[in-house]
Amino acid sequence: MSSKYEKLPLDPFFKTIDELKPKFIDRLRKAIAIPSVSSDEGLRPQVVAMAHFLVDELKTLGFHDIQLKELGTQPPPVVDANLQLPPIVLGRFGNDPAKKTVLVYGHYDVQPALKEDGWSTEPFTMYHDEKNDILFGRGTTDDKGPVLGWLNVIEAHNKLGWELPVNLVVCFEGMEESGSLGLDELVAKEAKEYFKDVKQVTISDNYWLGTTKPVLTYGLRGCNYYQIIIEGPGADLHSGIFGGIVAEPMTDLIKVMSTLVDVKGKIQIPGVYDMVAPLTEKEDKLYDDIDFSVGELNAASGSETSLHDNKKDILKHRWRYPSLSLHGIEGAFSGAGAKTVIPAKVVGKFSIRTVPDIDSKTLDQLVFKYINSEFEKLGSPNKFKVELIHDGNYWVSDPFNESFTAASKATQDVWNVVPDFTREGGSIPITLTFEQELGVDVLLLPMGRGDDGAHSINEKLNVSNYINGCKTLGAYLHYYSKA
Ligand SMILES: [Zn+2]
Repeated sequence: MSSKYEKLPLDPFFKTIDELKPKFIDRLRKAIAIPSVSSDEGLRPQVVAMAHFLVDELKTLGFHDIQLKELGTQPPPVVDANLQLPPIVLGRFGNDPAKKTVLVYGHYDVQPALKEDGWSTEPFTMYHDEKNDILFGRGTTDDKGPVLGWLNVIEAHNKLGWELPVNLVVCFEGMEESGSLGLDELVAKEAKEYFKDVKQVTISDNYWLGTTKPVLTYGLRGCNYYQIIIEGPGADLHSGIFGGIVAEPMTDLIKVMSTLVDVKGKIQIPGVYDMVAPLTEKEDKLYDDIDFSVGELNAASGSETSLHDNKKDILKHRWRYPSLSLHGIEGAFSGAGAKTVIPAKVVGKFSIRTVPDIDSKTLDQLVFKYINSEFEKLGSPNKFKVELIHDGNYWVSDPFNESFTAASKATQDVWNVVPDFTREGGSIPITLTFEQELGVDVLLLPMGRGDDGAHSINEKLNVSNYINGCKTLGAYLHYYSKA
């Protein structure tokens, strides 16, 4: 199935990408060989080496104004108080005022990986399974494949003697897997400087929903994380001596936490659903064709515990409705055996995944008011407090805007199918930072599949996703330049 649009003559570009395939696979192999694990202080020189690898590649391809932006020392907790953050790599390709400027973001650091964790092959020696045409290695799909994808697009244009239809700005960071330290400040600082002419931001750092159909991602949920602190006795007590004669913090906490959400997943805090944007018919339709099933949810959760019996309800509750999850209780007895303790102080943790149009501060007030009144009902003499630990807002874009339309055409050119328009239940905070600081649209254009195992063992990228991904990224720039 495909929708009607005027095709651009991109076949020579696609053919060139195919011709360069061995070289592109080799480029990824070299990048995977650098263990740029940002969470491991001892491997920090490797993260920096990866930045320099990219700089060399950018130079060879003809990028200009290449800069390594230093971010200073890493804030505690760190073993080495002088540990420097890895630099952010910036570069430009083209500087034509008549063309639009697109910023592409990716990260060159990776999650930790050891063969002993259960990998079938060495994680930092890329293994090409030629029978299934899959590339295995830490960083193949998250996020070195997509990062190199943009460089491959330039290389194909150079080889063809084609002009790039847009000015490209690259922004590659080396701390994404460790909280993107320093990135927000850098983006804010460069918004009117290095990123001055940027008209659009494209991020290739998420995945298809499933394994067969390409997707474009237009929304992410936010997350407000709270804790409820209840304390009573001056120290942990023995239930044989104090059971039945003191007010127990744990009993209060369980009572309060049990009132937050029902077993069907419905949030019990009044007013939360009133803030949720109504579902329009147009939005509802987007869910019809999405390649997903209840079976896939069951496979992913390793159970048959779905709260909803159909695809559309599952996806809507994952993407466009809020959810409340109870995460744990600090200070509670949680080991094996039968300890007869009465914990003196317990801290209950829960979070709410937020969606349009929930206002974060209003949500906090609703949460505090409700929990305070539930605790008051108990008439308990214990000390009580509820507070926000951290929050991050949701993001949603218009899936019918210029960049999504261009990306949809590019995807159809390459994959012969209209992509699914998806959202994600989790968050990618940098998306919102770029949108707010630069005041431009952001597009999430993933390369890898849902089963790539981004943060787990045997991370992989199918060669077809890598190569067709390069074609899609390049075609996207052409369609976007004409939009
Ligand atoms: Zn990533």
